[in-house]
Amino acid sequence: MDPTQLHALISSAFKARDNAHAPYSKFRVGAALLSSSGAHIAGCNVENASYGAGICAERTAIVKGVSEGEKQYTAVVVVSDVPTPTISPCGICRQSLREFCPLSTPVYMVASTYPALAPADGPAPAFLAPGEPWPRTTDEKVVVVLTLEQLLPMSFGPDNLT
Ligand SMILES: [Zn+2]
Repeated sequence: MDPTQLHALISSAFKARDNAHAPYSKFRVGAALLSSSGAHIAGCNVENASYGAGICAERTAIVKGVSEGEKQYTAVVVVSDVPTPTISPCGICRQSLREFCPLSTPVYMVASTYPALAPADGPAPAFLAPGEPWPRTTDEKVVVVLTLEQLLPMSFGPDNLT
């Protein structure tokens, strides 16, 4: 993915995180999806006093996108307030992503220290290359990328029902 495009997608996720409704957990999460049409669709976690009615950032973005006619995504970004790139989609969200993303879809997990609002010509963030041990929290890497298949091996998806 083009670094400038990725930077913009990451920035969308941070902006969504800042809108999180997380009065109970205080754990804000933002997600952004790149649709096959090129749209950036972002979401945040939306908690509820009836805890089970809450929804994660990733699924907020999915339902927003699908309701607007965007049903295929080619990249996913997840951000939070955690300063290491260790927050990954929960199990339910991995399955939800599986419905609308190819297994090869990169899922970028981004530390809160990412320079989200830095100018495009600012210093490049450090990336953890696919295949490197994960999580690695002792270095300066701020982005971990894994494919959806790595996050959800041997998954059940739409192709199993055709
Ligand atoms: Zn989730």
